[in-house]
Amino acid sequence: MSRAVVLGAGISGLVAAFRRRPGAGDVVLLEPGERAAGSVRTVEEAGLVLEAGPNTLRGTPEVERLLADLGLDREVLVADPRAPRWVVRAGRPRAVLPGPRGLLTSAVPASGKLRALGEPFVPRRPEALGDESVHAFFLRRFGEGVARYVAGPLASGVYADDPATLSVRSAFPRLWDAEGRAGSVLRGLLAKGGSPGRPARTRTLTLGRGLRALPEALVERLTAAGAALVTGAEVVAVEGPVAGATCPWRVRTADGRSFEAGRLLSTLDAGRLVRLLGERLSRSAPRLRSLSFVRLAVVLQAYGVPRPEGAPRGFGCLMPRGEGFLSLGVLTPSSLFPGRAEPGVALVTSLLGGALDPDLPSLDDDELAALAEEETRRLHPGLGERLLARVERWPAAIPRLPVGHHETLAALDADLADVNRGFAEPVLLVTGPFRDGVSLADRVAAGEAAADRI
Ligand SMILES: Cc1cc2nc3c(=O)[nH]c(=O)nc-3n(C[C@H](O)[C@H](O)[C@H](O)COP(=O)(O)OP(=O)(O)OC[C@H]3O[C@@H](n4cnc5c(N)ncnc54)[C@H](O)[C@@H]3O)c2cc1C
Repeated sequence: MSRAVVLGAGISGLVAAFRRRPGAGDVVLLEPGERAAGSVRTVEEAGLVLEAGPNTLRGTPEVERLLADLGLDREVLVADPRAPRWVVRAGRPRAVLPGPRGLLTSAVPASGKLRALGEPFVPRRPEALGDESVHAFFLRRFGEGVARYVAGPLASGVYADDPATLSVRSAFPRLWDAEGRAGSVLRGLLAKGGSPGRPARTRTLTLGRGLRALPEALVERLTAAGAALVTGAEVVAVEGPVAGATCPWRVRTADGRSFEAGRLLSTLDAGRLVRLLGERLSRSAPRLRSLSFVRLAVVLQAYGVPRPEGAPRGFGCLMPRGEGFLSLGVLTPSSLFPGRAEPGVALVTSLLGGALDPDLPSLDDDELAALAEEETRRLHPGLGERLLARVERWPAAIPRLPVGHHETLAALDADLADVNRGFAEPVLLVTGPFRDGVSLADRVAAGEAAADRI
């Protein structure tokens, strides 16, 4: 078998290489960074493990299998499934229950609850409606209260995006499909086996050494099995595919090296994909080129906790716009994952910026730390002295998925079919958060799916 070259060594690229069939030929991962980790960014300061990128990993079957195969299952820290999530309404954090029960919590104003419970009786969307924004979808199905206090925080909590422009079909396909299937989101979700009183089926996890233990273990196992991880290798040009050749591609890196490849797997963001392969993606390239990212600043903090009752509880708090906060969310990893910090210390992570406040991450570190601290103390007045504050920036954090994004993806599918036509096996595969899910669990599943084909 000919060589597979993977562009990018984030979680999806690493999993694709790790899960490759035995005997499928050699594999080379090209990564411009010094380390293979992509968006996973665990930092250690003052003996504390802090996550500047993803904080939580959903324990889907693919993830649980991966952790077991890597021997990381012993390191898993599991979030308390009953840990509440909070949403600010009228200046006060309110606990939100996961799933459809969320409609009944005090985050939704009383007037909104009645309207929300009428969702099964709202007429099904018209046939011609191919997509709509997250806000428009929730407004139509559940009314204003849920649109503002559930959908808004959902859009900012997962995507840091604007619910008025984020595509519901691409960002929350389960909800969109549930309406399509059953004529009602609630009926569709319940028919799939959920029930309002049932706990979530997947665990929410992290690892004792932080999530960086995942890419580190993948790199160790991959390289031991003979895969080549080339760091400091920014791919700047891709030539091919040459019809009929065993190695139809030639990949060039900024430092002048070149690699022949039988198959290419791109895990790049849409902009970089177009820069390298846009000429072969004529239908989708203009739309892919116009996709943008949200910018984020993450302020990692630790506080003393003089009295146990002053410690934060639960997952963290999300702030709908207009509730008097600039932070998008304030996560509390030490209460979500007991054991993450020693007793008497609370870890807090403030997320600032996103689509609705794109200039906020340009404040300097001291300003961001002061803003994060002021808003954290408003939420958690029982916290004591601030022990540390560290600012991390993400100029291109998470891709924005505009209404109609599914048409961009359909055009990309058509382009890829053209590129791969005439070859016995596909020679170009493309994955990425803009295409098949942003969460780490989605990226693990996408890597596994690509592994069968490279
Ligand atoms: C601040 C933040 C918080 C998040 N929180 C969560 C969370 O709590 N839970 C969750 O599940 N998900 C979370 N996510 C999302 C999740 O972390 C990402 O979607 C996921 O890590 C992306 O993995 P990936 O392998 O697809 O892409 P990436 O990690 O982006 O990997 C792509 C790789 O391609 C490389 N590359 C770039 N240019 C080139 C080039 N020219 N040549 C070769 N390689 C190149 C990059 O260096 C990178 O290593 C968060 C993301 C961010 C930024």
